[in-house]
Amino acid sequence: MEPEVRETLASPSGDLATEIGRRRTFAIISHPDAGKTTLTEKLLLFGGAIRLAGTVKARKSSRHATSDWMAIEKSRGISVASSVMQFEYDGHVINLLDTPGHQDFSEDTYRVLTAVDSALMVIDGGNGVEAQTIKLLEVCRLRDTPIITFMNKFDRESRDPTELMDEVESVLQIACAPVTWPIGMGKRFRGVYHLLRDEVLVFTAGEETRTQDLERIRGLDNPELDRRFPDEMPELREQVELLRAAANPFDLDAFLAGKQTPVFFGSAINNFGVQELLAALIHWAPGPRPRPAHERVVDAAEPHFTGFVFKIQANMDPQHRDRVAFLRICSGRFQRGMRIRHLRLGRDIQVHNPITFLAQEREVVEEAYAGDIIGLHNHGSIQIGDSFSLGENLQFTGIPYFAPELFRRVRLRNPLRAKQLQKGLQQLAEEGATQVFRPLSGGDLVLGAVGTLQFDVVAERLRTEYGVEAVFEPAPIHTARWVHSADPKTLGEFTAKLEAHLAWDAGERLAFLAPSRVNLELTMERWPGIRFMATREHA
Ligand code: GDP
Repeated sequence: MEPEVRETLASPSGDLATEIGRRRTFAIISHPDAGKTTLTEKLLLFGGAIRLAGTVKARKSSRHATSDWMAIEKSRGISVASSVMQFEYDGHVINLLDTPGHQDFSEDTYRVLTAVDSALMVIDGGNGVEAQTIKLLEVCRLRDTPIITFMNKFDRESRDPTELMDEVESVLQIACAPVTWPIGMGKRFRGVYHLLRDEVLVFTAGEETRTQDLERIRGLDNPELDRRFPDEMPELREQVELLRAAANPFDLDAFLAGKQTPVFFGSAINNFGVQELLAALIHWAPGPRPRPAHERVVDAAEPHFTGFVFKIQANMDPQHRDRVAFLRICSGRFQRGMRIRHLRLGRDIQVHNPITFLAQEREVVEEAYAGDIIGLHNHGSIQIGDSFSLGENLQFTGIPYFAPELFRRVRLRNPLRAKQLQKGLQQLAEEGATQVFRPLSGGDLVLGAVGTLQFDVVAERLRTEYGVEAVFEPAPIHTARWVHSADPKTLGEFTAKLEAHLAWDAGERLAFLAPSRVNLELTMERWPGIRFMATREHA
């Protein structure tokens, strides 16, 4: 049976434990075109955050107009923001963190996942598990983030549902527990059967903006079902019998441990199956989870405010170099005007105009709780990975840099601008816009990224903000690994031998820039005393 609601709902007094308990902070992970934007829109619709979701076409054109922030991105021709949307649903406060996909896929996409407590994986039922989903799930796995799965687009011809589940299990290495099961697909898509509630949710096309409950028919043996779906029922009953015997039953603990994912089927564009996802999110997904800091583990319900920065939003106004740091609150309550300790700088800062991210606008926030994201204005004093707290010194861990997969050598058109280039790249690296490597052997700087648009953003910003015209050229590098050894002698020998492939990153850590996968494997074999790391922590 479905577990009961574990959290009590809001109390008007804003009691700390209640406020924190009713928060859910999650991201949607998917491959481009699987339906993330469409699903986001429907989720917001249920949350009452936008009155009318409209058609996808209208959405595409109105999307840019919804916030000044996005308008600026549009005028720059790029979308560098991964926004945060907050909405209420069924007494819960939901923070949905966008993970940029398509060409604006970047390190931010990965890092956003370090700031959530659960993730919703959207899979295109026709395409199955795709490349970007695999990458994003790997990042979720670093923290055993609980994953809810949505098999989308069943209003189209899709792959066989059993086959889709098998693919998730084998490719993504996570057990699947079907919660709903599709009845037909494409033109013959009738709805889904809810295995835990023993009811059929009837599909009706063209109900994109409905927020009332769907038609439900209880009981698999209900004659009403035979009357409505005479062709489908025999097969459905057979399948359900098979599932009850052979499929994993949903196990809350396995889900919370990131070992099992509940699977739902539906059609985002038809707004079908979306409410079931929201129910899973509020009933099953965890509220703000405890966070490890160097000093100790911090529980969300602790009274004192703590948090860390997982993303820096580039300056909106190039003249002023102002930035917004996205801070995930890990514990306690935040209040506007609060003085909080900036741990890395060892000094207190007062936060006058923190911003919150409602579905469509940025607003000044008076109060926020563990699980929420607030934006802090700054002029470069805040970096990704910075921790903030009230009183106790706590440095949060687990906000990593990810080994870049794309590399460019940087050449200057005007060599006299070398200083500005260094400064610009250092600052852009601190913001997380790109990674910068300085080869030990001298030579041109190397930029690393996980998405190609990162290079365009950097080139554009070097030009407009730092007055530097840089040329990026392909670099013969396959991947990077941060290297470390407990034994200084081994590290010394390694450094001397492989100097031509070694570089310092912006944080003065040593990295091995491997020319090929084979080279990396051989080097790792030859140097067992060296640790090669695909991620490195901030701070
Ligand atoms: P994103 O790239 O993951 O954000 O994907 P979008 O939400 O932009 O969707 C990609 C395309 O798939 C769009 O043309 C959508 O209209 C379409 N789409 C999304 N969900 C569904 C669905 O449930 N059924 C069908 N047939 N198309 C869908």
